[in-house]
Amino acid sequence: MRLILLGPPGAGKGTQAKRLEDRYGISQISTGDMLRAEVKAGSPIGLEAKAIMERGDLVPDAIITAMLAARVSAPGSAKGFILDGFPRTVPQAQALDRMLADKAMPLDHVIELKVDDAALVERIAGRFTCAKCGEGYHDSFKQPAKAGVCDACGGTEFSRRADDKAETVAARLDAYHRQTSPLLPHYAAQGKLRQVDGMAEMDDVTRQIAAVLGAG
Ligand code: ADP
Ligand code: ADP
Ligand code: ZN
Repeated sequence: MRLILLGPPGAGKGTQAKRLEDRYGISQISTGDMLRAEVKAGSPIGLEAKAIMERGDLVPDAIITAMLAARVSAPGSAKGFILDGFPRTVPQAQALDRMLADKAMPLDHVIELKVDDAALVERIAGRFTCAKCGEGYHDSFKQPAKAGVCDACGGTEFSRRADDKAETVAARLDAYHRQTSPLLPHYAAQGKLRQVDGMAEMDDVTRQIAAVLGAG
């Protein structure tokens, strides 16, 4: 199964991608996570991307597309994948279309998580993750069962993203509306676009996605 989760920052793409990964045994491919790993490693890509990400702008298409192509060709992606945070521009979507056509690996669905901007600001402001395993949490919507201890791995260190602050969120939402939302008609024209109500509670969103996938 090959899927794209499409939606603005904070819509719940990462949360749902991790659940799909567990349920269907396909891998989450998050360009945001890949870029954060490059930044942490201080690689040439990381050095170029850091300031761009901190401003809330998009990293150039050429860098992203090359990074993604390597990952889609990796053996771990043979069973399928969930793209989370890619594509984000029309040129990225066109590059992906060509890449998948060359490999005869068509997309099954593009699932849009629809969430109001006001809710996104709240979701991003409260987001934090386990520093050890990356499990996602939220100050109001998903605290660990035992305060200060990760449900998934028992870790006790948590981190917040440098770009999850109010000033940057406005720039990221603006980038979504200007550069990423044109992908909705792109995939609608291919008959691949499915919409789910991302305002619903996390488990309900998971059920809505399962219903889309069950429908084939
Ligand atoms: P994205 O990957 O789209 O940026 P995340 O999955 O990281 O979004 O979710 C953003 C924040 O909102 C996280 O803190 C997550 O725990 C929380 N969250 C995700 N889905 C929901 C939901 N349906 N309702 C409330 N909070 C949610
Ligand atoms: P979110 O889902 O919360 O917006 P991501 O983790 O997907 O966050 O992305 C974080 C940042 O990484 C983006 O604001 C952007 O700077 C960069 N980025 C991630 N994916 C892409 C992409 N496909 N194209 C360009 N920039 C990207
Ligand atoms: Zn953990």
